[in-house]
Amino acid sequence: MKNLIGLSKEELVDELALLGEKSFRAKQLWQWIYFRGETDFDKMSNLSKDLRAKLKENYTLNRPKIVAEQISNDKTHKWLLEFDDGERIETVYIPEEDRGAVCISTQVGCAVGCKFCHTGSQKITRNLTAGEIVAQFMVARDAYGEWPSPTSETRYLSNIVVMGMGEPLLNKDNTFKALRILSDGDGIAISKRRITLSTSGIAPNIESVAADLGVKLAISLHAPNNEKRSQIMPINQRYPIEEVLKACQKYQYIMGMSRMITFEYLMLKNFNDTPDDAKELIALMKKYNIGAKFNLIPFNPWPSCGFEPSSNNKVHNFSKILEAAGYEAPIRVARGQDILAACGQLKSKKQTA
Ligand code: SAH
Ligand code: SF4
Repeated sequence: MKNLIGLSKEELVDELALLGEKSFRAKQLWQWIYFRGETDFDKMSNLSKDLRAKLKENYTLNRPKIVAEQISNDKTHKWLLEFDDGERIETVYIPEEDRGAVCISTQVGCAVGCKFCHTGSQKITRNLTAGEIVAQFMVARDAYGEWPSPTSETRYLSNIVVMGMGEPLLNKDNTFKALRILSDGDGIAISKRRITLSTSGIAPNIESVAADLGVKLAISLHAPNNEKRSQIMPINQRYPIEEVLKACQKYQYIMGMSRMITFEYLMLKNFNDTPDDAKELIALMKKYNIGAKFNLIPFNPWPSCGFEPSSNNKVHNFSKILEAAGYEAPIRVARGQDILAACGQLKSKKQTA
C-alpha cells in the first residue's frame, strides 16, 4: 500500500486520475490530509463512499512509528521515529511562550562528519523521502492536537527549523518538496518566513534556497577562517568560506538584503572564542557585504566528544564585540539538554557508538 503523505499536489491529482477521479477531488483529499490531519479515509465525509473504499484499498496515511518519546524539564519534546524499513531519526519540538518550532531531520545520519556533532559521528545511511520529512511535522501536530491547521497567528507549532539530523542541501530535492508541502496555504500552511533551513555550507545549492524555495537561511559557520573551520568541518576543504559567502551573496540578491542570513557560531573552548576571532568574523562579513546576524551556540557536549563549551564570560564578551560592530548576536539558550534533544545531540539509537 502506498502512503499518500509526501506527494505533491500535482502527483495527488495524477494518483486520483488513476482511480478515475477529477482534479477537484484531489484538492478535497489534500485538505483532509494536510488541513484536517485526518488519517481515516472513512471519515472524509465529502468524498463518495465509492472513492473512500478505493482509497482505503490502495493507500495509507500512516505516520512513522513512535519508538520513544521524551519531554524535558523545559518542555522540549523529542520523538524517536521509525520508518517502514526500520531506519530511525529524531524530531524535536521546542516550545516558547506564544509559539514553537519543530526541528526536523532530513537524513538518517550525516555524511558531512563535523567533529563536534553527534549526528555526524553516525555515518549516513540514507536520505529521507519528502513524505518522511513532512510526516515528522505531522507527528508533532498529532501530539498537540493542532488540527485543523490554525488560521490565527498563535499556534503551538508555528515555525519549522531544518536543523535536525542530516544535511538538507545534500538531500535537496526531497527537502524542498517537503517544505513546499508544509508551507502550502491549503494545508499545514507554515509561512516560508517561519521556516529556516540550516546548512553546513553546500555552496552550489545555496542560491537555490532563494530561487526555488524562498525560506530563511542559516549557515553553520563556526570559525572565522579556513584554517580553523577545516579542522572541525571537513566539508570546508570542498567548499571553503569564500565560496559559501559568495553563494550567500547570491541568496541575498534574490531574497533582498533585508532578509538577514543567520550565521551559527558554536563557541568552543580555546578554539574559536577569543576577541580576535570575533574581529576576524566581522572583517569577513564586511568584506562580502552580507546582511548577517549571528547566533552564538553554547556547545552541547555528548559522550566522548572531545570538545568543551566556552565559559559564559567568553561567550558574552564575544557577543558584545559583534554587537558593537552592528550585528545582532544573541546567545542561544540550549533547550532539552537533559534528554539529549539539544543542537548536535540527536542520534538514532539503533547504532550506538
Ligand atoms: N546539517 C545542518 C543542519 C543540522 S545541525 C547544519 O549543520 O547546519 C543544526 C545546528 O546544530 C548546526 O548549526 C550545527 O553546527 C549545530 N551543532 C552541531 N553539533 C552541536 C553541538 N554539539 N552543540 C551545539 N550545536 C551543535
Ligand atoms: Fe551533519 Fe550538520 Fe551535524 Fe555537520 S552539524 S555533521 S552537517 S548534521
